[in-house]
Order: sequence, then structure tokens, then C-alpha cells
Amino acid sequence: MEVAGWAAMNESGKAEPFIFKRRENGVDDVTIKVQYCGMCHTDLHFMKNDWGITMYPVVPGHEVTGVVTEVGANVSGFKVGDRVGVGCIVEACLDCDLCHRSEENYCDKLVLTYNGILSDGSVTYGGYSETLVVHSKFVARIPDSLPLDAAAPLLCAGITVFSPMKQHGMLQSGGSLGVVGLGGLGHIAVKFGKAFGLRVTVISTSPAKEKEARESLKADDFIVSTDQKQMQAKTRSLDYIIDTVPAKHSLGPLLDLLKVKGVLALVAAPDQPIELPSFPLIFGRRTVSGSISGSMKETQEMLDLCGEHNITCDIELVSTDGINEALARLARNDVRYRFVIDIGGDSN
Ligand code: NAP
Ligand code: ZN
Repeated sequence: MEVAGWAAMNESGKAEPFIFKRRENGVDDVTIKVQYCGMCHTDLHFMKNDWGITMYPVVPGHEVTGVVTEVGANVSGFKVGDRVGVGCIVEACLDCDLCHRSEENYCDKLVLTYNGILSDGSVTYGGYSETLVVHSKFVARIPDSLPLDAAAPLLCAGITVFSPMKQHGMLQSGGSLGVVGLGGLGHIAVKFGKAFGLRVTVISTSPAKEKEARESLKADDFIVSTDQKQMQAKTRSLDYIIDTVPAKHSLGPLLDLLKVKGVLALVAAPDQPIELPSFPLIFGRRTVSGSISGSMKETQEMLDLCGEHNITCDIELVSTDGINEALARLARNDVRYRFVIDIGGDSN
């Protein structure tokens, strides 16, 4: 089928209208009319070819919500009219140990929602487009209580911070969490931390974000990461850190904030290697871990929890005409806290 979308054609990273082909709905597939798509910093990395792996034209977007318009004969979990979401992944082998253990996000046949190559040889195009066709395994249900616009960023930003939080035991109350970088991923990590009963400290390069972080996101503490005095005063104060900073930085000063045996969960993907000095690691018996997105099982668990506790993202809705301006603002760290494109046109 022919689909209208928005693509970056080259490293200028500028999005422009682009018509392309998707497969027809297969027996295992769900076709989705896209209503909303969040704008992740990963979209910017790919559009600008930060990692040197972009296949142009690239249609970004992996925080998709919409409504099912067609289901294949083998699909039992979804029907026409269902409110659904798609995140970062659209294919895995579904047959290896990792896939069997619901860790398909680590399958070595993993295919990303855009800039990936499917097993049929075709290139994946993401959610900056009017229609998606996806294997039903990679479709999640959006709880009725969540609006499709403010839920969209949960499909990437939400699951990407939820997965390490679950892995490292942050779903129990009582611990202390530091969130580095108050952007799309960071703001939802703060919300999750508060919902799970953690004491949350924001570690930010932007002093201007402090008031809002404390008042509207309910952060307990706020440290300006460039202020050495503030950083030193909080030495050995945190059990966990989630690092979302998309630019080159050193983990040393962050590790010093962790208690002995504390865990730093890295989810950011800067184009330059990050510095990992050994002393703060070995003198504190600390752990640095990394993770990519989450499994579909975890994604559904996270969405259902958000439905129960009414957790949504703080978004700025933009029309399809506003994509490039939003990208420019995202690049200069001027967003509170996620742009979501109104693809369905409800607010245009
Ligand atoms: P974002 O909305 O742009 O937020 C990043 C935050 O980092 C900014 O708000 C800013 O917060 C801070 N920051 C510090 N130095 C910065 C700099 N030089 N440039 C920009 N921001 C800076 O980004 P995001 O969408 O949350 O994504 C964050 C990173 O995670 C990206 O690298 C993205 O590719 C990656 N990611 C990984 C996964 C995964 O599966 N592992 C999934 C999604 C995204 P302050 O103003 O508070 O300092
Ligand atoms: Zn993302």
C-alpha cells in the first residue's frame, strides 16, 4: 500500500513529505491508523546520521499510538477499532532462547521500527507516517484511561526507563534515584520514581528546570551537574542513577553520587564514547549497566501500570507542519518534555 509520511533525505536532518510503500496486512499483522507519534532524541540522532548508520530516506518515529484498521487471520489479541501503540521494535526471530524468555529486545535478529531491514529484505519506516503495518507481537494495548497523545511517548521513553527500573529493583519503595538529564526519558523516569515511592533527585545542566521539576514533577531534590560544590555535597547519597544524557560526558562524577554497590543504568546513546574512570567504580563496588528499550511483556506491564496510576507524559503537541521547528527545539534542549506529532490531524 502507498503511505504518506515525513522523511529526512540527507544529513541536514530536515523532514519533508515522502510517499512510500508498505506491505499489505499479512496473516500475523495489524494495520494501524497512526494518530500520534512522539519525537524521541533517537529520531534526531538518526535523521542527522550521528551514528553513521542511517539509510536515507529515513522515516523516523517509534512512539506511535493509533487505532487498528485491519487484523490478519492469525491475530487473536486485537480487533478493528482497538487503541494500540508501537514502540522501537517490529521484528525478532521469536524462536531463540531470548525470544522465548520474553527478552526479544536482545534477540540478535532484532529489527528496529525504522532504519531496520526486515527478514523480507525491506527497509522499515517509522511512525512519522499515516499508517503502520506491524506483526501483532509488537503491538501493545493502550489502557482506556490514557489519552493517545500523552501516552505515545510511553512506547519508547516510558519503556526505556521502566525496563532498567524493574531489572534493578526500583519498583519497590524506599530507595533513592538520581535522574540525569530532564528531557523526554528523564521526565518520565522522575514520574515513575515518584509513583514507585522512591526519593528522586534530578541531576541537570539546566538550573531553569529546577522550579518545574520540584513543583510539577514532584522531584525531591535538584542538582546542577556543572556545579562541583552541589555535586560533592551529594557524594554517596543515591542507590540508583538513570543516565539519559545524549551527549559525550564522563560517568565519574555521577558514580561518585552513588552509595557503595549503587547501580548506574545507562540508557542514553551519545555518538561519542562516554568516559568511565575506574576509581569511582572500584572504590564504590558500583555497577554500570546498559539496556535497550524493553520487551513487549514489560511494555504492556508498564502501560497497564500507567493506566492504573494515571501516569502520562508532559507533551507539546505539534502539527505535521511543525515537525522541523520541533526538531530544532529538541536539538537545543528546548522542550517540556516531549514533542508529539498530531499525525491524525485532530488538533490541526
Ligand atoms: P532529550 O529529550 O533531548 O533529553 C535529554 C536531556 O539530556 C536534555 O533534556 C538535557 O537535560 C540533558 N542534556 C545534557 N547535556 C545535553 C546536551 N549536550 N544535549 C542535549 N541534551 C543534554 O532526549 P531523550 O529523547 O530523552 O533521549 C535521551 C537519550 O537516550 C538519547 O541519546 C536517545 O538516543 C537515547 N535513547 C535510548 C533508548 C534505549 O533504548 N536505550 C531509547 C530511547 C532513547 P538537562 O537540561 O536536565 O541537562
Ligand atoms: Zn526513542
